[in-house]
Amino acid sequence: MNRLDHLHAALDRLDSQLLRRVRRDIEGSCSPHVIIDGRPFTAFCSNDYLGLAGDPRLAEALAEGARRWGVGAGASHLVSGHYAVQHALEERLAAFVGRERALVFSSGFMANMGVIPAMVGRGDAIFADRLNHASLIDAMLLSRADAHRIQHLDTTALERQLAMSTAETKLIVSDSVFSMDGDVAPLRELMALAERFDAWLLIDDAHGFGVLGPQGRGALAEAGIGGWRLIQMGTLSKAAGVSGAFVAGDATVIEWLMQKARTYIFTTGSPPAMAHALLASIELIEAGDDRRAHLVRLIECLTKGFAQERWKLLPSRTAIQPLIVGDNATALALGAALMEEGLWIPAIRPPTVPTGSARLRITLSAAHTLADVERLIETINRLEKTL
Ligand SMILES: *Cc1c(COP(=O)(O)O)cnc(C)c1O
Repeated sequence: MNRLDHLHAALDRLDSQLLRRVRRDIEGSCSPHVIIDGRPFTAFCSNDYLGLAGDPRLAEALAEGARRWGVGAGASHLVSGHYAVQHALEERLAAFVGRERALVFSSGFMANMGVIPAMVGRGDAIFADRLNHASLIDAMLLSRADAHRIQHLDTTALERQLAMSTAETKLIVSDSVFSMDGDVAPLRELMALAERFDAWLLIDDAHGFGVLGPQGRGALAEAGIGGWRLIQMGTLSKAAGVSGAFVAGDATVIEWLMQKARTYIFTTGSPPAMAHALLASIELIEAGDDRRAHLVRLIECLTKGFAQERWKLLPSRTAIQPLIVGDNATALALGAALMEEGLWIPAIRPPTVPTGSARLRITLSAAHTLADVERLIETINRLEKTL
């Protein structure tokens, strides 16, 4: 076997474990109502929680931003690739989430990969929820700090591990809303533990920003926590409907990140036009109480409407509503049966989720109608009996 044959064999193994992933090419812009291969589908799988990604006002803002500020940044931010519109975006974001300063990264993955190694290193310790996002896990490994993986939401175990640690610098890291489970971390308790054990607290609010808290200011605003220990990350690619991410917190911490976060320093600045579109997006988020109220109605409709015995919705009050199916084959069969009916919800399998907990990750958006959700409930309730 040559090197390529090894890859062929490994890909064949993915096939036999039903773990090979495929992509679908969507015709048209992001919406719950999409066309794939000429056929219409109602999709319950995007993170476009407020329905802004396909909003013509953002498309117009991006076009206007491109005319005014151009598309390419031309260099990294610290060389000559930083624009006034990006500075304005950072000030707007910091004010919106109620923190001193913010720094915008090209993506959420890059933000996490930059922040953690900038804050801790060899000899330090990280305390991380087991279900944290992949980017937080990879960043933790990259930092070379001692990694303590804590059982999901187990603040007693976290307290025990913190109490035993002799590390000079400690960092507690958690998703706010867990991306594959939809549940929310006990943010006030995490903050109290950070204070008690003199640790930093990094919260990844990818799924809370724009959705939770007053005017969509995020899960941290909802929990009412702040202060210099709290470093918060929010994505601009999910509810905000565009691309990129920001880290917000104490001005000194943000200055440190600007000096030390390698994924900020050693990459070309994000397109200035994007910042212009994001300023428009934040206006829509802030004025989006109607969208958030509609989303809450859809979530209530879904959680009340399911009558499953075999498959269970995880307890979640957020737009992420996972239906646990169990084995990969059934999850794939259910996904395929829903496709036949014009409903699109991809099956999420290991390694994204633990083995034996394959699921349909249903996500709701303010762009769904009540009729969309009722159709989904009716179809899954029927398939549960027949599949
Ligand atoms: C999506 C996501 C990220 C990555 O954000 P991108 O902007 O898509 O790179 C990070 N953390 C969590 C929890 C996420 O869900």
